[in-house]
This record gives sequence, C-alpha cells and structure tokens, in this order.
Amino acid sequence: MLFNKIIFGPVKSRRLGTSLGVNLLPDDCKLCNFNCIYCECGFNFTKPDSHLPQRDDVKRILKETLTDFNRKNEHIDTITFAGNGEPTMHPQFAEIIDDVIELRNSICPTTKVSVLSNATLINKPKIFDALQKIDNNILKLDSGIEDTINLINQPVTKFSLEKTIENLRQFKGELTVQTLFFRGKYKGVEIDNTSDKEVAAWIEAIKKIKPKSVMIYTLDRPTPVKELYKADEQRLKEIAAIVENLGIKTQING
Ligand code: SF4
Repeated sequence: MLFNKIIFGPVKSRRLGTSLGVNLLPDDCKLCNFNCIYCECGFNFTKPDSHLPQRDDVKRILKETLTDFNRKNEHIDTITFAGNGEPTMHPQFAEIIDDVIELRNSICPTTKVSVLSNATLINKPKIFDALQKIDNNILKLDSGIEDTINLINQPVTKFSLEKTIENLRQFKGELTVQTLFFRGKYKGVEIDNTSDKEVAAWIEAIKKIKPKSVMIYTLDRPTPVKELYKADEQRLKEIAAIVENLGIKTQING
C-alpha cells in the first residue's frame, strides 16, 4: 500500500486519533533505510523518475488542507509525518518541521504534530533538534536483541542497537517508544519478539531509554512476508503491564 499524495487522509489512527498524514517520500515508490518484513508499504523499491516532494509544495498543500478543514469546522487531532518510508531521510526534514509547526500554530493551534520514525538518523543534530520541537516524537524499537532487529527491520545501512539506545536516551524522556510485536518466519528463521527472552531484553532497553510512554501494537494490514502473524492479545497485555510497572504509560493498539 502506497500513499499517492504529499498530504493524505485524514485517517482514523489506532494510536493518534484523526490523523492528517504528511508523506515526505516519493508518491510512487517506497524509500526507507529499514526494510521491515512487516512494512505495510511493502519492501523498498524505487523508480528512475521518482522524486521527493519540495518543501514549498508541502507547505502550500498543507496550508490549503488545514484551512479547508478549519472552514468546515472539522478538527484534526494530529498532523503526522509517516508515508512511503522514513520521513527523516528528506534532506529538508528539519525545515519542513518548522513550516508545519508555524502553520499549525496559526491555523489549528490545538492540533498536535507527530512524527513516526525508525530512529536511525536521530544521531544527526538537525534531526534530533527538529524532533524535540514536536508534540509526539514516536520512535521505533522492535527488539532489545540486535540479531532480531536485523531480521525484523532489515537495516539497509550499518545498524548498532547499543548506539540507537544511547541516542534514544538523549531525548531525556521526551519520546514515545513504538514496538510492533508479532511472530512468524522469514527465510526459514522463526521470529517471536513476544517470547520471554525477547521481552526481557526489550524491557532492559526501555529501562535505559526511559521514554515518557510506550506504544505496543501488532499487525493490522497485509505484510510483504506472508508467514507473519498477530501477537496474542493476552501477551500484549502482559507486556504492557510489565512496562506500566516501571511507571511508564503504555498504550496497546490490538
Ligand atoms: S521503518 Fe517504517 S517505513 Fe521503514 S520499512 Fe520499517 S515499517 Fe516501513
């Protein structure tokens, strides 16, 4: 499933309410520095004439859209950066965040600004600073075990779990960790990030990161790898209870 517009929706998000999407990736391909086996956009692919949206176009179309919703008296809970890949890969991500905050403040001041990111580029000061300005800084961590991350998220470039955890810690609690739990098999290897061993390692990572909240969810849409299955609802509740016991607010999206 690809988002074929720069501004899409609004969609009713399980996690965020009425969410107006911002896609900073090409509208005809999928571009990410992860290649998650569960990604609802499918595996990465590019086309020769694909291009990233221009900053000015994002600002103009978002302004028109927000103004239109305002005129109709329809409330948007959040403007959410998501779309066909990793939003922080856009070279003007930080500047676009500034534009979006400016538009939000002038047109719909109660609307939140959210970013769903895989956290791979938060070591870059410009991106780190931009994420500190938004309301919902939602960063992915699907396992506390490096081999499992490599299997699930298929990083395209060099990845270090230890460095990622350290970088996440730098937000000093101003982040939400988002984790997708599921089980299945990929290339003959069994995956279950809800197992006792997996959850124990992930909880250790959460203890180090100390996020203000955690979002736990499971598969909801078709995945590029077929042999993947939803996590058991009861198990999600058990995992959430362990996080809540640490004093961290936890939301389950079945
Ligand atoms: S990080 Fe997000 S966009 Fe990138 S492959 Fe994974 S699920 Fe898809």
